Amino acid sequence: MTKPLLLLDVRCPNCQASLTQGEQVVLHAHVAEPAQEGEVRLSALFGDYASRTEMVIPEGGLAEFICPACDRSLMVDVPCGLCGAPQGSLNLATGGTLEFCSRRGCRGHALGGFGELDDMIELLNRMFKIPHD
Ligand SMILES: [Zn+2]
Ligand SMILES: [Zn+2]
Repeated sequence: MTKPLLLLDVRCPNCQASLTQGEQVVLHAHVAEPAQEGEVRLSALFGDYASRTEMVIPEGGLAEFICPACDRSLMVDVPCGLCGAPQGSLNLATGGTLEFCSRRGCRGHALGGFGELDDMIELLNRMFKIPHD
């Protein structure tokens, strides 16, 4: 099986557990409205904002993401650049961090697939270990 080129290998910033399973990033999440708790699978492919969950999250609804290994919150105090919702943060195995929007339906949900072009290029450089000049 060949590994897709833009597969992100992400880890929990708290316990360093690898959270990428196959082509998905498996996280736990709390949803306030309507109150639920469950699993959310984000695509581990760079820029793909597909997500899968058994929970009923309305379009535009927010989720709080939690590491399934250590049960600690992955949320950070950095609002989404597109919609202003709180974001979760994961560590990249290759170094650096990756923020993603907690709002369902926001393009910022994609891992690495939005934001400033410079940030994306820097991320790609880190992923492929291209030295900065
Ligand atoms: Zn953890
Ligand atoms: Zn957003």
